Amino acid sequence: MKFTRRTLLKFAGIGTVAIAMLPRMAFAARNTLRTVRTGIQPGNKTRLVIETGARPSYSVSYPANQLVVTLSNTAANASLAPSLVAGSLVTAITQVQSGDKLQIVADLAKPINEIPRDNIMLLSPNGDNDYRLVLDFAASSGASAVASASSAAKQSSAPSRKYVIVIDAGHGGKDPGCIGKGGTQEKVVVLSVAKKLKTKLDAAGFQTYLTRSNDTYLKLAQRASIGEKKHADLFLSLHANANPSRAMQGFSIYTLSEKASDEEAAKLADAENAADKIDVSGFEQFDKDIRIALSSLQQHAVAEMSVEYANGCASQFKRAKITQQPGPDVRHAPFAVLRSTVPGALIELGHLSNAAEEKLLKSSSHQDKLVAAIVKSVKSYNFDV
Ligand SMILES: [Zn+2]
Repeated sequence: MKFTRRTLLKFAGIGTVAIAMLPRMAFAARNTLRTVRTGIQPGNKTRLVIETGARPSYSVSYPANQLVVTLSNTAANASLAPSLVAGSLVTAITQVQSGDKLQIVADLAKPINEIPRDNIMLLSPNGDNDYRLVLDFAASSGASAVASASSAAKQSSAPSRKYVIVIDAGHGGKDPGCIGKGGTQEKVVVLSVAKKLKTKLDAAGFQTYLTRSNDTYLKLAQRASIGEKKHADLFLSLHANANPSRAMQGFSIYTLSEKASDEEAAKLADAENAADKIDVSGFEQFDKDIRIALSSLQQHAVAEMSVEYANGCASQFKRAKITQQPGPDVRHAPFAVLRSTVPGALIELGHLSNAAEEKLLKSSSHQDKLVAAIVKSVKSYNFDV
């Protein structure tokens, strides 16, 4: 690395912080590093906790005898003394600022294996804590260690983590969603679009997951919790609409808020949330988990990012000359499926209650057009917040 200035700040104890600045570093970091600490977990595992002010976008790499967590769009914290426990694998922590990226470099006493995804957790703010990125790891048992010199070079030049998108095809199974006059079911149309979207986003370099890949029924909170479990960066719930007026047509895009932006949005949220009234067993528990995950601070951040995405999505749909339902570009309502810590939107692709649009929504070419617009909206979304 070519740093023109390098400052080393030594703190009492075992922690060391180095901050290397690039000249004329001119970026407005959207995230801040709050604390870095280590602990020991059962099974002699080392726990590294990185606390940030906003939801972190990160990647992990494994240079020789080090573990490096790179945070996008984050500023170093010069006054921060990492709190390191004795006896863990981490012997020192260094902050390295490179442009808008901040690397947390942990020196290791022993080599480790690549940390499995299950052992990396992103926790939401609660009580006195902000967002916490938690990594649990143990010393490797030898042969499979990634910290050899050759793999170190490969690892450190590896591209940062793929952004994770969870695509939710609405309804399914015993819940058909709305049904057009010609018999087209919402659950069928949105599953087809979801699968096409997955193919295109995968090809564009995103890591995608479907909440359902066949005709199965899922509760709304289960869908939302898939977004959480996959550490999704974006959650897209796909639907098609119905309106008492058969003349009504066009797409509409929604984000979560406790209060609906208008009466129509409120009615739509009621209709979409009704999916859960088909089968309420087991809902309580999911609902509780999700509720715990949301603090007001977080709701605000997630809402902001969701609206940013939704506005971009609306403009891509308009650019593609897809008919828009009269009204604002983005509306808000209390959709259960969007109730999570993952920014996202609910996209009503069009009206199945309108005969012309029902035909369009069934057609592969129109589905491709919708998918192309959504792919553009995802590509132009700023994930590094
Ligand atoms: Zn729906």
